[in-house]
Amino acid sequence: MPRRELSYSSFHTYEECPQRWKYLYVDGLKEADRSYFSFGRSMHLTLEAFVGPLTSPHRLRRNGQLTIFDFGGHSPRTDPMSLDELLARYRELWIRDGYSNADEEHKYFLIGTDLLKRFHSQFVSSRPVTVAVERDLSGRMGNVPIHGIVDRIDLREGRGLEVLDYKTSRELSLEDARTSDQLTFYQVLVQQNYSEPVEALTLYHLRSLRPLSAPPRDAKVVEGLATRAGVVADAIRGERFEPHPGPVCRRCEFRPQCPAFGGRSTSA
Ligand code: SF4
Repeated sequence: MPRRELSYSSFHTYEECPQRWKYLYVDGLKEADRSYFSFGRSMHLTLEAFVGPLTSPHRLRRNGQLTIFDFGGHSPRTDPMSLDELLARYRELWIRDGYSNADEEHKYFLIGTDLLKRFHSQFVSSRPVTVAVERDLSGRMGNVPIHGIVDRIDLREGRGLEVLDYKTSRELSLEDARTSDQLTFYQVLVQQNYSEPVEALTLYHLRSLRPLSAPPRDAKVVEGLATRAGVVADAIRGERFEPHPGPVCRRCEFRPQCPAFGGRSTSA
């Protein structure tokens, strides 16, 4: 059974196509590994290994009480690992699945190596105050229980929080950061779990090391997303899983069995 709390990914998948959501979250069907997913996962794991031990102990707000210390789930260290250490961890954590051949895998591996070298240099010189990495948070979006794993949370000089989401995609714009529903999800989760205010929502474009930052969403935007999350949660509870053909069909591997394309759904 899917987790009771709605994640951004689950919410987004359902909005794109309820039938596809059912294949993934109820029937438990898997899609083939893809190179870009493996590459993204490898980078996330390596950056977690690098930044995680440097997180600063920070108090979490739970049920209105400031009692729980968050050490980021890592053995703390004061100095960042060397570039050689970082690249060794990268080799250990590299995920080989999903590449069509050794050349493609090698090409991605080199992109990651170059990216990590530049990330290491920039991070060591700027030393942001990071309070959490890959943090699994739970909360509520309106009446809907939600959860999400936030890539990184930094404490800014103004004592507010910056919520960062790493992206390994080629193209990314400031407009993406301003309109991302995923960042709105994370804003709500961080606001409900931390005592400091959220000051910035950032899509961190790893290939260029460019942080694309937007201000936190206002109440109207959050309410709009909460309404949509409520619609999705109600529809899932009501087991409404009709196909919704659209652009996502081009990359959907369930077309052979999808009723919208003449297949026989596994839906009850
Ligand atoms: S092929 Fe299209 S309509 Fe069918 S499940 Fe996939 S995304 Fe939905």
